[in-house]
Amino acid sequence: MPEQPELTIQGWGPTPAGAAAQDGEGLDGTLTKAARRHLARELGWTPRATPPVPVDEIRLAPSRLPEAAHTALVELLGADNVRTDRESRLRRAGGKSYLDLLRRRGGDASDAPCAVVLPGTTEETAALLALCSEHGVVVVPFGGGTSVVGGLAGVDPDDRPAVAVDLGRMASVQVLDVPSSMVTVGPGMRGPALEQALGREGLTFGHLPQSFEFATLGGYAATRSAGQASTGVGRFDDLVAGLTLATPSGVLELGHPPASAAGPDLLGLALGSEGTLGVITELKLRVRPKPAVTSYEGWSFRTWPQGLATLQNLARHDLLPDVVRLSDADETRANLVMAAGTGAALLRGSLRARGHGEGCMLILGWEGLPDLVRARKRAASSLLRDGGAVRLGRRVAESWRSHRFGAPYTRDRLMDSGLLVETLETAATWSALPTVYDATRRALRESLGRRGHEPLVMSHVSHGYATGASLYLTVLADRDDALPIQQWLTAKRAATDALLAAGGTLTHHHAVGADHRPWLEREVGPLGVEVLRAVKQRLDPAGICNPGVLLPD
Ligand SMILES: Cc1cc2nc3c(=O)[nH]c(=O)nc-3n(C[C@H](O)[C@H](O)[C@H](O)COP(=O)(O)OP(=O)(O)OC[C@H]3O[C@@H](n4cnc5c(N)ncnc54)[C@H](O)[C@@H]3O)c2cc1C
Repeated sequence: MPEQPELTIQGWGPTPAGAAAQDGEGLDGTLTKAARRHLARELGWTPRATPPVPVDEIRLAPSRLPEAAHTALVELLGADNVRTDRESRLRRAGGKSYLDLLRRRGGDASDAPCAVVLPGTTEETAALLALCSEHGVVVVPFGGGTSVVGGLAGVDPDDRPAVAVDLGRMASVQVLDVPSSMVTVGPGMRGPALEQALGREGLTFGHLPQSFEFATLGGYAATRSAGQASTGVGRFDDLVAGLTLATPSGVLELGHPPASAAGPDLLGLALGSEGTLGVITELKLRVRPKPAVTSYEGWSFRTWPQGLATLQNLARHDLLPDVVRLSDADETRANLVMAAGTGAALLRGSLRARGHGEGCMLILGWEGLPDLVRARKRAASSLLRDGGAVRLGRRVAESWRSHRFGAPYTRDRLMDSGLLVETLETAATWSALPTVYDATRRALRESLGRRGHEPLVMSHVSHGYATGASLYLTVLADRDDALPIQQWLTAKRAATDALLAAGGTLTHHHAVGADHRPWLEREVGPLGVEVLRAVKQRLDPAGICNPGVLLPD
């Protein structure tokens, strides 16, 4: 297996080798003075050193895996593939939400698995699930470990020992069927490795979430991920033609490409199942030719409602570009103020001069055959102008593009300096979106605001559909050093209640995990929850598959 970069135990990672400086930070990931000044002014925040505890001081309880289960797992997988050492367990402890990072940075690894097991095939995975059912051992599938909703919390109401099933050994391209535009892959493969393999054949997959460097294809399927180009390419679940799900009750082969009318689509049950029904061990994915042309542009609107109305109009005429990202005034201002360099200063000046000083930036990207890109761009540009947008050109869009995986690295630095940094997301119809936006922002501002300390709530629309769009919010606030976990839980509860009441979905692409499951019934109704429980009962009668997520208690 080729060497892959690894996430750090307490954060995202060291700045990638050879990476350019991120907007708002220096090459070593430190915040620029302009960025610090902006945040201090907006948040009433006094920068202070709040570093994580040293990794060797993280508390890790001894493994509780029963001897009999350990022996049986070693017989099945070999000693090398059943790991109970400290490093292996710490690396699979939870995901990368703000709460996960707070815990790990504070020295708490109580959610670490008792062991990490690495099956190499579907058959081994199925046998492993049967074995764990027999021994009463909880199984938490582990892809890239980038869950932001407590998907890897490993919480079990019966407090049984848990193992993380790491899919790292099942991470290769198995079949590339070029005439059918389909690739069969192992679930542990990451996006960059897939793109590299496809690129050699002139193909691409094109799924680009911000966690692209570390997340896995199996994780995308299990959480119904969306990427930065999902408006054009489709969400991850649109790109799955079929998959194999190993469950404690047997193996399911789901999906029949290219299409089938043989009853309800059982593939949809596995997508978004978050490890609660078993382990996805193989995926058939749709691929496409690498785009001959890519064209990215920045535009600006005076107001957020103007921007939303124009996107809606583009959607109605089927003219949304492949990448669509409309930032509200708070996010636009933060991006412009925090961006280093003379280019950003010139752009700020030019926007002020055109009456867009408090405007909303739109990044658009078109990809494909030259004639098509040209025609779609021309038609879209005309609707954009009708909607009051002014064109900013390519530079600002290319800058976003080259820095688009940088934010998680900056998050580590912000957390080192006493800040709360978290994101949340939803989606709503075009008619409900403005209310969802107002209600969620208000809830966050009210729950996190204190005298002299206002949170910064920045939003953008990043995925457009004919019927509506997603909304992504980034929250920064002065951290309550005494009760940081409680501070975020209170805000998250208020925001989730508000967005659901206003007509938003519980989650557009982060999934349910442990963090959202108390609200699942509000999303799918009591009967919906019962249906999901019945399916789980049939496939996982001992309830060993990721019991702490998705389904409410
Ligand atoms: C900084 C950052 C940026 C992010 N950006 C995006 C984004 O742009 N778009 C987006 O959609 N998400 C994003 N996420 C969320 C996260 O990356 C996605 O949910 C991703 O799909 C998780 O993939 P993973 O391989 O890391 O899965 P993990 O975190 O390892 O697992 C996620 C869940 O899926 C289950 N699971 C994993 N693999 C399997 C399998 N093979 N079979 C069955 N169950 C499995 C796990 O048990 C868990 O419940 C981001 C997260 C971070 C930290």
